[in-house]
Amino acid sequence: MRPIENIFQAICSHLLPSACIVCGVFQRHTLCLDCLIQLESDQLSNYECCPQCGLTLEVSELTEKRCGECITNSPYFDETHCLDRYEGRLQSALHLLKYQRRLACAHGLVSAWNQLMTQSLKNLRADFLMPVPLSPEKLCSRGFNQSWELARRIDCDKDIHKNPHILRRHHHAQQQAKENRASRQIAIQDMFYINPQFQGQLESATVIVFDDVMTSGATLNEIARVLKDNGASHVTNWVLLRTLYPASRS
Ligand SMILES: [Zn+2]
Ligand SMILES: [Zn+2]
Repeated sequence: MRPIENIFQAICSHLLPSACIVCGVFQRHTLCLDCLIQLESDQLSNYECCPQCGLTLEVSELTEKRCGECITNSPYFDETHCLDRYEGRLQSALHLLKYQRRLACAHGLVSAWNQLMTQSLKNLRADFLMPVPLSPEKLCSRGFNQSWELARRIDCDKDIHKNPHILRRHHHAQQQAKENRASRQIAIQDMFYINPQFQGQLESATVIVFDDVMTSGATLNEIARVLKDNGASHVTNWVLLRTLYPASRS
Protein backbone atom coordinates (compact mmCIF):
# COMPACT_ATOMS: atom_id res chain seq x y z
CA MET A 1 0.00 0.00 0.00
CA ARG A 2 1.29 3.49 -0.75
CA PRO A 3 2.57 5.38 2.32
CA ILE A 4 0.10 8.28 2.06
CA GLU A 5 -2.82 5.92 1.66
CA ASN A 6 -1.47 3.95 4.62
CA ILE A 7 -1.38 7.03 6.83
CA PHE A 8 -4.86 8.09 5.67
CA GLN A 9 -6.24 4.64 6.52
CA ALA A 10 -4.57 4.69 9.93
CA ILE A 11 -6.03 8.12 10.74
CA CYS A 12 -9.49 7.12 9.50
CA SER A 13 -9.49 3.91 11.54
CA HIS A 14 -8.84 5.93 14.68
CA LEU A 15 -11.34 8.70 13.96
CA LEU A 16 -14.15 6.93 12.16
CA PRO A 17 -15.80 3.57 12.76
CA SER A 18 -15.65 1.11 9.85
CA ALA A 19 -18.22 -1.47 8.86
CA CYS A 20 -16.69 -4.96 8.77
CA ILE A 21 -16.86 -6.22 5.17
CA VAL A 22 -18.11 -9.62 6.37
CA CYS A 23 -20.57 -9.03 9.23
CA GLY A 24 -21.24 -5.30 8.82
CA VAL A 25 -20.61 -4.49 12.51
CA PHE A 26 -19.18 -1.02 13.06
CA GLN A 27 -15.83 -1.01 14.85
CA ARG A 28 -12.27 0.12 14.04
CA HIS A 29 -11.29 -2.16 11.19
CA THR A 30 -12.51 -2.98 7.70
CA LEU A 31 -12.44 -6.63 8.77
CA CYS A 32 -13.41 -7.16 12.41
CA LEU A 33 -11.38 -9.38 14.71
CA ASP A 34 -14.15 -12.00 15.12
CA CYS A 35 -14.49 -12.39 11.35
CA LEU A 36 -10.72 -12.51 10.92
CA ILE A 37 -10.48 -15.34 13.48
CA GLN A 38 -13.30 -17.28 11.79
CA LEU A 39 -11.71 -16.77 8.39
CA GLU A 40 -8.33 -17.90 9.68
CA SER A 41 -9.70 -21.07 11.26
CA ASP A 42 -11.42 -22.13 8.05
CA GLN A 43 -9.33 -20.57 5.28
CA LEU A 44 -8.59 -22.65 2.22
CA SER A 45 -4.84 -22.60 2.79
CA ASN A 46 -5.40 -24.67 5.98
CA TYR A 47 -6.38 -27.61 3.79
CA GLU A 48 -4.16 -29.93 1.77
CA CYS A 49 -4.26 -28.33 -1.68
CA CYS A 50 -2.61 -29.04 -5.01
CA PRO A 51 0.42 -26.70 -5.03
CA GLN A 52 0.08 -26.18 -8.78
CA CYS A 53 -3.63 -25.32 -9.19
CA GLY A 54 -4.84 -24.69 -5.62
CA LEU A 55 -7.67 -27.25 -5.62
CA THR A 56 -8.22 -29.26 -2.45
CA LEU A 57 -6.77 -32.72 -2.91
CA GLU A 58 -8.95 -35.82 -2.83
CA VAL A 59 -7.86 -38.70 -0.57
CA SER A 60 -6.50 -40.66 -3.56
CA GLU A 61 -4.30 -37.69 -4.51
CA LEU A 62 -2.69 -37.14 -1.11
CA THR A 63 0.33 -39.40 -1.72
CA GLU A 64 1.24 -37.64 -4.99
CA LYS A 65 0.61 -34.21 -3.35
CA ARG A 66 -0.75 -32.98 -6.69
CA CYS A 67 -4.20 -33.30 -8.22
CA GLY A 68 -4.82 -35.80 -11.01
CA GLU A 69 -5.62 -33.05 -13.50
CA CYS A 70 -2.26 -31.30 -12.97
CA ILE A 71 -0.44 -34.63 -13.33
CA THR A 72 -2.15 -35.66 -16.58
CA ASN A 73 -2.67 -32.22 -18.11
CA SER A 74 -0.13 -29.96 -16.44
CA PRO A 75 -0.96 -26.25 -16.69
CA TYR A 76 1.62 -23.63 -17.73
CA PHE A 77 1.64 -21.98 -14.30
CA ASP A 78 3.87 -23.51 -11.61
CA GLU A 79 2.18 -22.60 -8.31
CA THR A 80 -1.14 -21.33 -7.00
CA HIS A 81 -1.78 -19.79 -3.59
CA CYS A 82 -5.41 -19.03 -2.68
CA LEU A 83 -6.70 -17.17 0.36
CA ASP A 84 -10.11 -18.80 0.56
CA ARG A 85 -12.87 -20.64 -1.26
CA TYR A 86 -15.26 -18.68 -3.47
CA GLU A 87 -18.29 -19.89 -1.54
CA GLY A 88 -16.84 -18.62 1.74
CA ARG A 89 -17.15 -15.48 3.85
CA LEU A 90 -15.51 -13.01 1.48
CA GLN A 91 -17.65 -13.54 -1.62
CA SER A 92 -20.21 -10.82 -0.91
CA ALA A 93 -17.50 -8.21 -0.18
CA LEU A 94 -15.84 -9.05 -3.50
CA HIS A 95 -19.20 -8.69 -5.29
CA LEU A 96 -19.74 -5.30 -3.65
CA LEU A 97 -16.31 -4.24 -4.88
CA LYS A 98 -16.78 -5.53 -8.44
CA TYR A 99 -20.42 -4.85 -9.17
CA GLN A 100 -21.29 -1.92 -6.89
CA ARG A 101 -17.91 -0.19 -7.03
CA ARG A 102 -17.52 -0.24 -3.24
CA LEU A 103 -13.79 0.45 -3.24
CA ALA A 104 -13.76 0.42 0.56
CA CYS A 105 -14.21 -3.36 0.32
CA ALA A 106 -10.78 -3.58 -1.33
CA HIS A 107 -9.24 -2.42 1.96
CA GLY A 108 -11.02 -5.13 3.92
CA LEU A 109 -10.19 -7.87 1.40
CA VAL A 110 -6.53 -6.87 1.30
CA SER A 111 -6.50 -6.64 5.08
CA ALA A 112 -7.58 -10.32 5.12
CA TRP A 113 -4.86 -11.20 2.59
CA ASN A 114 -2.14 -9.30 4.40
CA GLN A 115 -3.00 -10.79 7.79
CA LEU A 116 -3.52 -14.37 6.62
CA MET A 117 -1.22 -14.87 3.63
CA THR A 118 1.78 -12.55 3.96
CA GLN A 119 3.53 -14.68 6.56
CA SER A 120 3.45 -17.85 4.45
CA LEU A 121 4.47 -16.00 1.26
CA LYS A 122 7.09 -13.68 2.76
CA ASN A 123 10.04 -15.69 1.42
CA LEU A 124 8.64 -15.84 -2.08
CA ARG A 125 10.88 -13.87 -4.44
CA ALA A 126 9.69 -12.64 -7.83
CA ASP A 127 10.53 -10.00 -10.39
CA PHE A 128 6.97 -8.87 -11.11
CA LEU A 129 3.50 -8.89 -9.60
CA MET A 130 0.82 -8.17 -12.17
CA PRO A 131 -2.98 -8.35 -12.06
CA VAL A 132 -5.11 -10.23 -14.56
CA PRO A 133 -5.98 -7.33 -16.87
CA LEU A 134 -9.41 -6.20 -18.00
CA SER A 135 -9.98 -5.23 -21.61
CA PRO A 136 -9.94 -1.44 -22.23
CA GLU A 137 -13.73 -1.59 -22.78
CA LYS A 138 -14.36 -3.41 -19.50
CA LEU A 139 -11.98 -1.12 -17.64
CA CYS A 140 -13.86 1.86 -19.02
CA SER A 141 -17.29 0.54 -17.97
CA ARG A 142 -16.21 -0.61 -14.46
CA GLY A 143 -13.83 2.26 -13.85
CA PHE A 144 -11.15 0.14 -12.19
CA ASN A 145 -9.56 -3.30 -12.30
CA GLN A 146 -10.52 -5.04 -9.05
CA SER A 147 -7.50 -7.37 -9.24
CA TRP A 148 -5.15 -4.38 -9.45
CA GLU A 149 -6.98 -2.56 -6.63
CA LEU A 150 -6.22 -5.61 -4.48
CA ALA A 151 -2.73 -6.46 -5.79
CA ARG A 152 -1.36 -2.94 -5.42
CA ARG A 153 -2.20 -2.92 -1.71
CA ILE A 154 -0.66 -6.31 -0.91
CA ASP A 155 2.31 -6.33 1.46
CA CYS A 156 5.13 -8.17 -0.26
CA ASP A 157 8.88 -8.06 -0.83
CA LYS A 158 9.91 -4.53 -1.89
CA ASP A 159 11.94 -5.95 -4.79
CA ILE A 160 8.81 -7.34 -6.45
CA HIS A 161 7.79 -4.77 -9.05
CA LYS A 162 4.03 -4.31 -9.14
CA ASN A 163 2.99 -3.39 -12.64
CA PRO A 164 -0.51 -3.40 -14.19
CA HIS A 165 0.70 -2.36 -17.67
CA ILE A 166 2.80 -5.35 -18.80
CA LEU A 167 -0.05 -7.70 -19.55
CA ARG A 168 -2.90 -6.61 -21.80
CA ARG A 169 -6.22 -8.08 -22.81
CA HIS A 170 -8.20 -7.81 -26.03
CA HIS A 171 -11.89 -7.11 -25.77
CA HIS A 172 -14.06 -10.20 -26.02
CA ALA A 173 -17.82 -9.95 -25.90
CA GLN A 174 -18.49 -13.58 -24.99
CA GLN A 175 -19.45 -14.30 -21.39
CA GLN A 176 -17.40 -17.06 -19.75
CA ALA A 177 -19.44 -17.95 -16.72
CA LYS A 178 -21.37 -20.99 -17.93
CA GLU A 179 -18.83 -22.54 -20.23
CA ASN A 180 -16.81 -25.64 -19.38
CA ARG A 181 -13.03 -25.65 -19.13
CA ALA A 182 -12.40 -26.88 -22.70
CA SER A 183 -14.62 -24.28 -24.34
CA ARG A 184 -13.28 -21.54 -22.07
CA GLN A 185 -9.74 -22.48 -23.03
CA ILE A 186 -10.63 -22.12 -26.72
CA ALA A 187 -12.57 -18.88 -26.15
CA ILE A 188 -9.68 -17.31 -24.30
CA GLN A 189 -6.91 -18.22 -26.74
CA ASP A 190 -4.92 -15.19 -27.88
CA MET A 191 -6.93 -12.91 -25.57
CA PHE A 192 -3.80 -11.71 -23.72
CA TYR A 193 -0.61 -10.15 -25.01
CA ILE A 194 2.48 -8.39 -23.70
CA ASN A 195 2.58 -4.60 -23.98
CA PRO A 196 5.27 -3.96 -26.64
CA GLN A 197 6.89 -1.43 -24.23
CA PHE A 198 7.84 -4.30 -21.96
CA GLN A 199 8.85 -6.80 -24.63
CA GLY A 200 12.14 -8.42 -23.64
CA GLN A 201 11.81 -7.60 -19.93
CA LEU A 202 10.32 -10.96 -19.10
CA GLU A 203 13.37 -12.97 -20.14
CA SER A 204 14.06 -15.46 -17.29
CA ALA A 205 11.72 -13.46 -15.05
CA THR A 206 9.69 -14.94 -12.22
CA VAL A 207 6.18 -13.57 -12.27
CA ILE A 208 3.26 -13.51 -9.84
CA VAL A 209 -0.16 -13.09 -11.41
CA PHE A 210 -2.94 -11.88 -9.13
CA ASP A 211 -6.58 -12.77 -9.81
CA ASP A 212 -9.62 -12.05 -7.67
CA VAL A 213 -11.35 -15.32 -8.61
CA MET A 214 -9.99 -18.54 -10.10
CA THR A 215 -12.61 -20.88 -11.53
CA SER A 216 -11.53 -23.37 -14.21
CA GLY A 217 -8.02 -21.93 -14.30
CA ALA A 218 -8.32 -21.37 -18.08
CA THR A 219 -7.63 -17.62 -17.84
CA LEU A 220 -4.58 -18.01 -15.61
CA ASN A 221 -3.33 -20.88 -17.74
CA GLU A 222 -3.51 -18.81 -20.91
CA ILE A 223 -1.76 -15.90 -19.15
CA ALA A 224 1.01 -18.23 -17.96
CA ARG A 225 1.39 -19.54 -21.52
CA VAL A 226 1.79 -15.99 -22.87
CA LEU A 227 4.24 -15.06 -20.10
CA LYS A 228 6.36 -18.17 -20.73
CA ASP A 229 6.24 -17.66 -24.51
CA ASN A 230 7.76 -14.26 -23.74
CA GLY A 231 10.58 -15.70 -21.65
CA ALA A 232 9.19 -15.95 -18.10
CA SER A 233 10.79 -18.84 -16.24
CA HIS A 234 8.32 -19.31 -13.39
CA VAL A 235 4.70 -18.23 -12.97
CA THR A 236 2.91 -18.20 -9.62
CA ASN A 237 -0.78 -17.40 -9.17
CA TRP A 238 -2.03 -15.46 -6.17
CA VAL A 239 -5.78 -15.81 -5.95
CA LEU A 240 -8.20 -14.21 -3.53
CA LEU A 241 -11.04 -16.74 -3.93
CA ARG A 242 -10.93 -20.19 -5.52
CA THR A 243 -13.93 -22.05 -6.90
CA LEU A 244 -13.39 -25.59 -5.67
CA TYR A 245 -15.59 -27.51 -8.08
CA PRO A 246 -14.78 -26.41 -11.62
CA ALA A 247 -16.86 -27.79 -14.47
CA SER A 248 -14.12 -30.23 -15.48
CA ARG A 249 -14.57 -32.19 -12.24
CA SER A 250 -18.33 -32.13 -11.98
ZN1 LIG B 1 -17.01 -8.91 11.10
ZN1 LIG C 1 -3.75 -29.31 -9.46
